[in-house]
Amino acid sequence: MSYVITSPCLGEKFGECVEVCPVDCIFEGEDMYFIDPDLCIDCGACQAVCPVEAIYHEEDLLPEDEMFIQKAKEFFASQE
Ligand code: SF4
Repeated sequence: MSYVITSPCLGEKFGECVEVCPVDCIFEGEDMYFIDPDLCIDCGACQAVCPVEAIYHEEDLLPEDEMFIQKAKEFFASQE
């Protein structure tokens, strides 16, 4: 399980989350940031600082935001 960045990040990309993540697992994509689910330690620090409330724990995602789990997987697969 990990935290997931969702639609409010699209086109916003404030990036506060990147600065507070203790394990540096948030990476910049073309239109939004992504959390690497293999590295995230579930600390919640990113969620607390996101100015657009784009970050949710995987278990708390709204059904319409579940696609962002897959979007992150595809982003990290494309980086390999
Ligand atoms: Fe990083 Fe913690 Fe956010 Fe996971 S929950 S992405 S470890 S700040």
